[in-house]
Amino acid sequence: KELPADSVLENTRRQVSKACFSYVKPKKPGNPSLIHVSPEMLAELGINGSASSKEFLNIFSGATVLPGTRPYAMCYGGHQFGNWAGQLGDGRAINLFEVAHEEKHWAVQLKGAGETPYSRTADGLAVLRSSIREYLCSEAMFHLGVPTTRALSLMLSGDEVLRDVMYDGNPAYEKGAIVCRVSPSFLRFGNYEILAARQEEKTLKTLVDYTIKHHFSHLGTPCKEVYLKFFKEVAVKSMEMVIHWQRVGFVHGVMNTDNMSILGLTIDYGPYGWLEDYDHGWTPNTTDRAHKRYRYGTQPDIVLWNLFKLANALYPLIEQAEPLEDILGEYQDEVQIAHLEMMKSKLGLLESDNKDKVLIADLEKVLQLSETDMTIFFRELSAFTSTADGLALVADAFYDPDEIKGAIKEQWVAWFKAYRERLTLEAKSDPERAAAMNLVNPKYVLRNYMAQLAIDDADKGNYDLLDELFQLLKKPYEEQPGKEKWFAKRPDWARDKVGCSM
Ligand code: AMP
Ligand code: MG
Ligand code: MG
Repeated sequence: KELPADSVLENTRRQVSKACFSYVKPKKPGNPSLIHVSPEMLAELGINGSASSKEFLNIFSGATVLPGTRPYAMCYGGHQFGNWAGQLGDGRAINLFEVAHEEKHWAVQLKGAGETPYSRTADGLAVLRSSIREYLCSEAMFHLGVPTTRALSLMLSGDEVLRDVMYDGNPAYEKGAIVCRVSPSFLRFGNYEILAARQEEKTLKTLVDYTIKHHFSHLGTPCKEVYLKFFKEVAVKSMEMVIHWQRVGFVHGVMNTDNMSILGLTIDYGPYGWLEDYDHGWTPNTTDRAHKRYRYGTQPDIVLWNLFKLANALYPLIEQAEPLEDILGEYQDEVQIAHLEMMKSKLGLLESDNKDKVLIADLEKVLQLSETDMTIFFRELSAFTSTADGLALVADAFYDPDEIKGAIKEQWVAWFKAYRERLTLEAKSDPERAAAMNLVNPKYVLRNYMAQLAIDDADKGNYDLLDELFQLLKKPYEEQPGKEKWFAKRPDWARDKVGCSM
């Protein structure tokens, strides 16, 4: 239901039924200023002229609405931490417009541009801290080859935002910020779930048909069969995404169904973190420390759980449970295979051997016997040869070298012996294998403390480190002389320090 364009009701919080979105107006920022812009995304969107122009500043801070466009917020629901949460929606994201450029189609949205009908009890704003984390990480993920939404720009709004700061629990004012996010689509599993939950089947069909027409058109004209193909493709894309997360050690932290992109893109960078110590039980989300629902090791299972919820949402259009269940069953088989292939690639194994599963399971076990840095371990492993001393090679990866003795050391020695034997089945030379491994095992990732250092500086108005990290993370697989300090174990002060999302 459309409200008049000048309606004061536009941004009012409410339940929105029989609709996929609501028109809204971005909040006028007090004194916007540009912090950073992504040159790649400027080019992708075909934006000519200077990002430091007044026009760019006004549009991408929400100060002015581009003539001929009509910003909107999307309606979605979701399962949060296993429970149905009802209507959620874009509470602090506002879609500005869409851009078609060089055969690509982008939705452009502001995060932190004020309240919408979906803001519930919150303010629709974002703080500098969380905005830097999203801006840096989404671009870093893209350059790691992980499917993700992108970021165009990072602005200060010039307004102050009140937040309960996680570190001491006392409310404090922080700098408000606005990230311009860009994606082929921001549709989430929750967009379909809310319509099914409300039994709004007509609108559900409209949205699914729209999604297929615009994003899955190769599947054909929407019908029951095509809906199943659509679900299958979402399952495959989501699996590919999560396997990439496992490969690079990314832990999303809040894999609620409202944070699952229908395109299998990493979306909503909140309390995410990067594995430093290789630990399947680790989660960066301090509000999830009791149950650890979204810990590193369960991410592929959670994708399955979320797909199950999406299947339920699509069921009214398909009216057959079995083919949906079959697709979920296939996911369970395929994710095992994909995980094995991914781990093999991290070890430089191209040939097949029936003992590979055991070799990898043994590695995952021994990696967790002591605190071992995932990124450093796999990167340094590429230099392994038939004559190398494996433990000496990866010595930098151990947080406490004194732990590597006795039974733990014996297990490492045994594992390296098995790995050495396994490599004799490989056709590639040592340097060839190293080169291949260095394309899947990044040297540089956005460690939590790195983001925190950039945030601390930015808070004081210094954006040099922010830019340094932005540049560094464009080439995560390359050796970057002079940047070795970022290829190092997390410093002790940063142990267990994580950012937060609000
Ligand atoms: P998230 O945990 O960031 O994925 O957000 C879950 C829900 O809360 C979504 O509907 C968000 O739009 C909403 N939300 C999060 N932060 C805010 C905020 N500061 N103001 C309004 N809504 C918010
Ligand atoms: Mg979200
Ligand atoms: Mg451990």
